[in-house]
Amino acid sequence: MKANIVLLPGDGIGPEVVAEAVRVLEAVATAYGHQFAFSERLMGGCAIDRFGTALTDEVLVDCRASDAVLLGAVGGPKWDDPTATVRPEQGLLGLRKGLGVYANLRPVRVHPDLVDASPLKADRLAGVDILVIRELTGGLYFGQPKGRGRVNGRERAVDTLEYYEHEVRRVVELAFRLAQDRRRKVTSVDKANVLESSRLWRQVANAVAAEHSNTALEHMLVDTAAMRLISSPAGFDVIVTENMFGDILTDEASVLAGSMGLLPSASLGDSGPGLYEPIHGSAPDIAGRGLANPLGTILSAAMLLRYSLNLPREAAAVEAAVDAALSAGARSADLGGRLTTGETTAAVLAQLQQQPAALPA
Ligand code: NAD
Repeated sequence: MKANIVLLPGDGIGPEVVAEAVRVLEAVATAYGHQFAFSERLMGGCAIDRFGTALTDEVLVDCRASDAVLLGAVGGPKWDDPTATVRPEQGLLGLRKGLGVYANLRPVRVHPDLVDASPLKADRLAGVDILVIRELTGGLYFGQPKGRGRVNGRERAVDTLEYYEHEVRRVVELAFRLAQDRRRKVTSVDKANVLESSRLWRQVANAVAAEHSNTALEHMLVDTAAMRLISSPAGFDVIVTENMFGDILTDEASVLAGSMGLLPSASLGDSGPGLYEPIHGSAPDIAGRGLANPLGTILSAAMLLRYSLNLPREAAAVEAAVDAALSAGARSADLGGRLTTGETTAAVLAQLQQQPAALPA
């Protein structure tokens, strides 16, 4: 197949890890006879420096016209002034809205050989395999009114948690669809004892569940979910939740795996290209030193193969190669090892050559 992939390396370690994922995608293209065309664009702090804005209209148009977008990370101390009106994160929000990607998927698995890298006790981590789905384009981060002002002489700030029924339905439906290939259990996380928006969320989740009798639905309050992610994480299969709850819970869940550098994500809409990125930031403290772990971005590229290019066999081969490289002892500095960014990728490429699934059909 032929695919056009837009690369948005961004800032800090973003360009370093995206370059490694491209090496893996090129190896996949060679092994399976695909043609991937990559075009690199500026987004984030680097775009602010060049164009005065984090995301130009031209870049958004290019992303919309592509088959998939692979992003590194944005931001850094240079653009951190809290009074600045132009910020790298505006590029991320603009991209999510502009691509209509309303569901953010973050798989969290614990590799058996990395149990010691997690702060949790080993017995809590056995069997952890969670897919967290966060609603990405609604809720508290986008609801109106939003802002600050003085009311009766007092400073006041307001944010609005707003959801329409269709916004909840589409993301919960996706959760049920993705649960079909997993253990068929969906945990819908809300705060229905307090929030009206959560009561709507719960009602819609029940309606979607009624259409999927082969899949179990459980409701869980967000405070309980935060606790269970630490006390009994193996009990979760698919978690689906609103934007801010998901923002917080996904970072909490990432701790289970042992390093931020390991975890991928995919942001999907109904049609059009998906957006793929590691969950970590631009890590300015290690940028330019060959210390970045590229596995989160390589696994994001695997998700790109699966969800945007409909190449599940190739995606599984990359994921198996990453697993095998870790089993064989490949460790970058964040995992207590000595491998550089490029050496970690080389360990994955070596395993990819040996995957039975990597043999051309
Ligand atoms: P961060 O994720 O960049 O780094 C947190 C810690 O994890 C650092 O010690 C870093 O060295 C380490 N780390 C992160 N990724 C790693 C990798 N692949 N390999 C090895 N170690 C890794 O978070 P932060 O330090 O809070 O933020 C730094 C900048 O990134 C800020 O400007 C922030 O706004 C931005 N940020 C961007 C995104 C994004 O682009 N999606 C997400 C989070 C933070």
